[in-house]
Amino acid sequence: MTTLVLAEHNGQQIHNEVRHAVSAAQHWGQPVHLLVVGYQSEQIANQAAAIDGVSLVLHTDAQQFAHPLAEDVSKLIDTLVADYQVILAAHSSFSRNVLPRVAALADVAMISDVLEIQTDNRYVRAIYAGNVHTTIQSRDAKQILTVRGSKFSAADLNGQAEITDITAPEAFTKTRWLSESRIETDRPALNSAKVVVSGGRSLGSAEKFDALLNPLAEKLGAALGATRAAVDAGYAPNEIQVGQTGVTVAPELYFAVGVSGAVQHTAGMKDSRIVVAINQDPDAPIFQVADYGLVADLFDAVPTLTNALS
Ligand code: FAD
Repeated sequence: MTTLVLAEHNGQQIHNEVRHAVSAAQHWGQPVHLLVVGYQSEQIANQAAAIDGVSLVLHTDAQQFAHPLAEDVSKLIDTLVADYQVILAAHSSFSRNVLPRVAALADVAMISDVLEIQTDNRYVRAIYAGNVHTTIQSRDAKQILTVRGSKFSAADLNGQAEITDITAPEAFTKTRWLSESRIETDRPALNSAKVVVSGGRSLGSAEKFDALLNPLAEKLGAALGATRAAVDAGYAPNEIQVGQTGVTVAPELYFAVGVSGAVQHTAGMKDSRIVVAINQDPDAPIFQVADYGLVADLFDAVPTLTNALS
């Protein structure tokens, strides 16, 4: 039997998390196949083939995958499911949409947000916004799971896997892709940035959020993040919300600026290697997960810090 990993990409570049998912997939000691769906996506298939530990890339090039919908991708995986004992992907919005459908079609349990693979069917996963880690065992013959990338090392890029083209089933017609809005930025992608600067509701307005945090992020080569309260207040776009219902990040350095540290926020950032918190309230919960804490008014501290950075 073989393990199948679903690869995610943005049409140009395979996502970094795929390398972490491939690493996790090595646990079963079986050949690992990587599934790339796209349109005119030959370069993505080539990038996939270079990931160490992948023995075969299954490449589906079809127009319906120019903007892949979960309905189409799960339909495709359902045609492959019989050949695989384990199907996994990095824990992302995309895979959280696709793999539960695959699990339902295969009539097996969906195991999401796996932090540790203990045996071939026993896992540690996070529940209650990451406040409880639970160990679960699946008795299903087939294991379908998403893994948290930051908990697994990234596979190297010395691979030379074979690429096989496979045919897509007919497109699903009841749902169609209409449009998407992307934020174009020179900054690193939030979910793979080495440094993240996040701001909270205390920034007070979209203008102040940008004026204070952009220069700091610029100097640090960081991605910008935000709390849900800041997003709900319209200070920052939804795409950069960090937390339980947003993006999970695990950078080398995480700046929490005027962030209280609610569990729903820390669920998305507490795997960061070093956390720096700036908050005027010495009792703010963020200081419990911070390595360095500065009790100060952010409107003084952030410009001072930004100016001090060369
Ligand atoms: P606040 O809690 O209002 O905190 C503001 C902080 O700024 C305070 O600690 C204050 O002391 C400090 N401050 C104020 N002024 C200054 C100043 N001048 N200088 C320095 N510090 C200052 N939240 C997320 O972030 N991500 C999620 O994914 C998420 N998902 C959720 C899911 C559910 C189901 C629910 C119920 C909630 C979720 N939340 C999420 C919301 C979460 O519970 C908190 O409400 C939110 O994180 C608080 O954001 P905040 O820290 O910006 O605001």
